[in-house]
Amino acid sequence: PPSRLPQLGTTVFSVMSALAQQHGAVNLGQGFPDFEGDPALLDAVDRAMRGGHNQYPPMPGVPALRQAIAAKIETLYGHRYDADREITVTAGATQAILTALLAVVHPGDEVIVLEPAYDSYAPNIALAGGVMVPVPLDPHTFRPDFDRLRAALSPRTRVLMINTPHNPSGNVWTADEMQQLAGLLEGTEVLVLSDEVYEHMVYDGQQHESVCRLPSLAARSFVVSSFGKTYHVTGWKVGFVAAPAPLMAEFRKVHQYNVFTVNSPMQVGLATYMADPAPYLGLADFYQRKRDRFRAGLADTPFRLLPCPGSYFQCVDYSGLPAPLAAMDDMALCQWLTREVGVAAIPMSAFYSAKAARPSIIRFCFAKKDETLNLALERLRQIQ
Ligand code: PMP
Ligand code: GLN
Repeated sequence: PPSRLPQLGTTVFSVMSALAQQHGAVNLGQGFPDFEGDPALLDAVDRAMRGGHNQYPPMPGVPALRQAIAAKIETLYGHRYDADREITVTAGATQAILTALLAVVHPGDEVIVLEPAYDSYAPNIALAGGVMVPVPLDPHTFRPDFDRLRAALSPRTRVLMINTPHNPSGNVWTADEMQQLAGLLEGTEVLVLSDEVYEHMVYDGQQHESVCRLPSLAARSFVVSSFGKTYHVTGWKVGFVAAPAPLMAEFRKVHQYNVFTVNSPMQVGLATYMADPAPYLGLADFYQRKRDRFRAGLADTPFRLLPCPGSYFQCVDYSGLPAPLAAMDDMALCQWLTREVGVAAIPMSAFYSAKAARPSIIRFCFAKKDETLNLALERLRQIQ
């Protein structure tokens, strides 16, 4: 039988991590920390596991964790979700996004995606039978263009996906842009799937604009986040989705026959740990220092640093590198960097559906120990 996803190979993150390992390169490609989560969190999970939390939790997630999530959202963004009916714990943001799409997209429905976009969106839309409608972000600022978005809306538009802070560019939506989105969708039945996994990584005193801050957007949105990012435990694969009750009811119909529920000791441990807001409130300062270290190290190199107001990714334009390097496409350059310089990165083109789009931009992840960043910088600075 024909493949459901005929064009698809292996995700660039697996490919580049394997290449990094093969060449002993410092892996600034795939986004994950190379340090451990807080011992207090690990202890909380350990206690949960030894305390008998090892059987199926309720289908939507451990109640205490859902309550902690709802309380956090209300405190930070001012929207009150009902923990019983409007929050579901998921196997990472990845499952939340796929499940939301499967729950609301009918075959032939259009799903608008702002590109560059995280690489799971397009195959997820295809699996849901949807038609992806890519709309480019501004190629220099990575800001949304509302005229283009308006032009992309059609009677078949079912979902508009957004991602702030943005992977890969690090761009952060402003309150004004959220208002413009609300205005754009007024009078339509378009749903919003808002990927906010980097919600606590917003720098330079700015704040994260969650869609749920605006009631008219909250009423039509799935808001997705990930404990993997917030607590340095990407391998746990625990995230969550918040949505108004009617949308969440549809989400749970799929969730219950998709994973049914998510591992129990991590949820119980996370619920305990979330009582203290300091770890997520302190995350922006923690990562801003790493961002600044990394940017300072590259400042006087031929790499041109793009702004990085959020996320744990720093993008650079490499068109100022010596001619043979500058002429390479971004994938070739990432492979060359991994093999010859010993630093792995991710090509920007991996985040575009049309492979013709090949900007001279690559993405580094700075969620690394300072010594790892120093070693990477030492190597990158040798490029002449
Ligand atoms: N969305 C974005 C924008 C991401 O960067 C990631 C992680 N790379 C995910 C979703 C998936 O998160 P999780 O690991 O929790 O599934
Ligand atoms: N979100 C991570 C990144 O963008 C990768 C996650 C994955 O490997 N699927 O690098």
